Amino acid sequence: MKNLPKHTQVAIIGAGPVGLMAANLLGRLGVETVLIERNAAPYDVPRAITMDDEGARTLQAAGLDGKYMSHTVRGRGSRYYDDKGLPFADVGPGPVEYGFARRNHFFQPDYERVLRQGLERFPHVSLAFEHDCTGHEQAAKYVTLTLQTPDGDQSLRADYLLAADGARSPTRNRLGIGMLGDTYPEDWLILDMRSDPDEEPVSKFFCRSDRPFVSIPAPRGGRRYEFRARPGETPESLTDPAKIRALLEPIRPFDDAEILRATVYTFEAKIAERWSCGRVFLMGDAAHLTPPFAGQGLNAGLRDAHNLTWKIWAVVTGKAGPGLLPTYETERRGPAWAMVQLAVAMGDIVMPESAADIAFRTSILTWMERFPEARDYIIGMKFKPPPRYNDGAFVKLEDQPFAGSLVGQMMPQPDVAHADNVLTRLDDVIGPGFALIAQQPDTIEAMTNSLDVWSVLQPTPVAITKNSVTVTKDVAVLAPQPDHAWKTLRAHRDQIMLVRPDRYVAAACWPGEVAEMARSFCDILHAK
Ligand SMILES: Cc1cc2nc3c(=O)[nH]c(=O)nc-3n(C[C@H](O)[C@H](O)[C@H](O)COP(=O)(O)OP(=O)(O)OC[C@H]3O[C@@H](n4cnc5c(N)ncnc54)[C@H](O)[C@@H]3O)c2cc1C
Repeated sequence: MKNLPKHTQVAIIGAGPVGLMAANLLGRLGVETVLIERNAAPYDVPRAITMDDEGARTLQAAGLDGKYMSHTVRGRGSRYYDDKGLPFADVGPGPVEYGFARRNHFFQPDYERVLRQGLERFPHVSLAFEHDCTGHEQAAKYVTLTLQTPDGDQSLRADYLLAADGARSPTRNRLGIGMLGDTYPEDWLILDMRSDPDEEPVSKFFCRSDRPFVSIPAPRGGRRYEFRARPGETPESLTDPAKIRALLEPIRPFDDAEILRATVYTFEAKIAERWSCGRVFLMGDAAHLTPPFAGQGLNAGLRDAHNLTWKIWAVVTGKAGPGLLPTYETERRGPAWAMVQLAVAMGDIVMPESAADIAFRTSILTWMERFPEARDYIIGMKFKPPPRYNDGAFVKLEDQPFAGSLVGQMMPQPDVAHADNVLTRLDDVIGPGFALIAQQPDTIEAMTNSLDVWSVLQPTPVAITKNSVTVTKDVAVLAPQPDHAWKTLRAHRDQIMLVRPDRYVAAACWPGEVAEMARSFCDILHAK
């Protein structure tokens, strides 16, 4: 471990996946960061098992997708089984919009190891285990943390404090911020199997009234099973080997040695009343708790990290004023709660309360057979909120010239080819900062001629075109590949787009309006 500085630009409490991701993103942006973890060693058991396309894109932004994504299992969709064990709905994997499959099954301890190793790239980032943050005090320009360490109490000053300290967040409690929402009355038994005869990369939901359960693919031929507890069952009785045998034997041969982990969880659907106080910001499970039916808890935390870290970077480097920081909660709160609601809705499908509920659900779905799009909408989670913000650091979000503008939305990520035909994903060319995207000769020319208006933000200018164009050497010229993401992006070829470091489109303009777009976004960055 490096010696901790006395003062840092950012302190993060909690080296869980969200804190680790935030430290990597800040590290890549060059921000001095200290990551504090109270445990003596990494928590070496899996909890999250599904990373979505946005989560994978965040890993890419941290520069670590190449180190980890090949170790994940690419999900091929979901299947739902009725009370008799018969499949009643199949949902395909869906198109690739943001550069990665929509569901990637992963092993959390390996993923966190890659994130920890990623920090070694940055001399300006420190990770300290056995440092328990027992208090913090805010002054006008900094926060002072009290840390209990094996060498006695220490203090650390930080310009900003990010609390990624989990569901029971001591920081949130110290700030007196409550959680709104519900705790599920039933517990769930979580079983991680080292290997499993079922190698189909499909998530299976057994929607039974007596005992709903879920079976999810895991890397290295493993599988996750989640069984809902029945009234009267306790964590001790559920994890008793005889009970586990009774639960598993109808599904797969039982072998004690195959169990990697058996534990019982209580699921919660909650959100913090506020996500910040002065210079302190809550992230991940500290800010919201999502039941795992939609596999979204960690993914939502990764979105928090991506949203907040670039704003902190912009503020500590003087590119933006502190007035930008409240847009973290403005943008993230609604979508995070929508994800919690989605997971609750998924739970209602998986956990019918009674035979009557099942009959109702089956009749609705049978009726919907005649309307496949509506059926997919319900079962295929097409109501999963798209990555789009309705308010925040965007130029004229309410006043776009045409419906379906990408402003406020995550930019699709097509594959692109360099001049030497080497294929890559678009974000790998953009790097960790801002970007400008233009796609046809007039917009490319306007973008190229107005690069000097961006001296502060220094976006990476990118031309995505099949045409031969004349540009300065600063502009990356890339050939599009005819994939789904490019088709979406291409519909916006008349405009020049400004893309934020979290890959959301901040602004879009016609060729004659680049300077005005730059001024408007600058005003947003420096809003009081
Ligand atoms: C059974 C189950 C299945 C799940 N499946 C999925 C899934 O498939 N997909 C998904 O996206 N999500 C899933 N989730 C949710 C996901 O696991 C969590 O949302 C995620 O792990 C939260 O990460 P975090 O970094 O916010 O918090 P944590 O992982 O809880 O990390 C918090 C860290 O803060 C440290 N800490 C706390 N207090 C202090 C202090 N005072 N000083 C220093 N350190 C401190 C803790 O020791 C801990 O290491 C699942 C959850 C469960 C329980």
